[in-house]
Amino acid sequence: MLAMINDRAGYNASMSDAVANDADACLPGTLFVVATPIGNLEDLSPRAARVLTEVDLVAVEDTRISRRLAEVTGRLPRMVVLNEHSEQARVGELIAMVAGGSSLALVSDAGTPLISDPGFRLVQAAHEAGIQVSPVPGPCAAIAALSAAGLPSDRFHFEGFLPARGPARRRRLQALAEYPDTLLFYTPARDLPDVLDDMTQALGAERLAALGRELTKRHETVWRDGLAALAGRVREDANQQLGEAVLVVTGNPAARPPIALAALARSLADELPPSRAAKLLAGLSHLNRREAFSLIESCRASDIER
Ligand code: SAM
Repeated sequence: MLAMINDRAGYNASMSDAVANDADACLPGTLFVVATPIGNLEDLSPRAARVLTEVDLVAVEDTRISRRLAEVTGRLPRMVVLNEHSEQARVGELIAMVAGGSSLALVSDAGTPLISDPGFRLVQAAHEAGIQVSPVPGPCAAIAALSAAGLPSDRFHFEGFLPARGPARRRRLQALAEYPDTLLFYTPARDLPDVLDDMTQALGAERLAALGRELTKRHETVWRDGLAALAGRVREDANQQLGEAVLVVTGNPAARPPIALAALARSLADELPPSRAAKLLAGLSHLNRREAFSLIESCRASDIER
């Protein structure tokens, strides 16, 4: 059926190859890692729906939640629970079943398995047992938020959940303060006021950020503002403290030296003693002596690591 739709749409040869590959999707002895909606059931892809009806077994975090997928697929095969408590104990028997020729789909409660969700041990064990692992990609809250944030997306760091306790959370945020790339965080929305206050302290009140809350659901929020302003807006509106949220925070622009400056620093660090290199670098750039010295030192440190 997929092949027919794609033929009618006039897809090119490489797309037909992909479709041909897709026809093999439910090969016995395969583990499928299947992304499911993060709210809106319409986001379950046709391929995910087909795989979920054709496999012999589905590993789920919570049967009550995954049973809702049958509203789209019509039916589901036998479910087995694989959550953070049972994963260790269940992996052996599941791998034995797939090695024996059964096909297995892994899903989580929402989004992409293994992304702040269980499944790593199962997928790792499948590779170690020589089992074919095939992704069925789809929704992921972090990527959905990033795609709508309007913040740099060429490089990003996925942090997932911060520590729940304030002091540990603040220490982790401090450690990320100089990080140059966009940062992605998961949090329950009820923690947003405290988390945004801590981010304001650690990363700066003006640091540009985006809040993606209840994405794909009826009361979706996508806001983009400075951290302090976002904290204020969330505190003022109790509805923003309900549900699930992703925070996307711009990296520290000052922490990423322009390419030319980094290249110059590396050349000077390679050729000269540190203090001489720093003096020259400061004279040739907008950096002061202290900043130039620390850039030279970081070049030397990365040379030693290499
Ligand atoms: N595996 C999932 C994924 O691919 O996004 C994430 C699972 S993690 C246990 C759950 C967290 O994802 C929530 O606490 C929230 O931070 C984020 N999340 C899940 N659904 C969301 C949604 N509809 N809108 C915003 N954030 C969401």
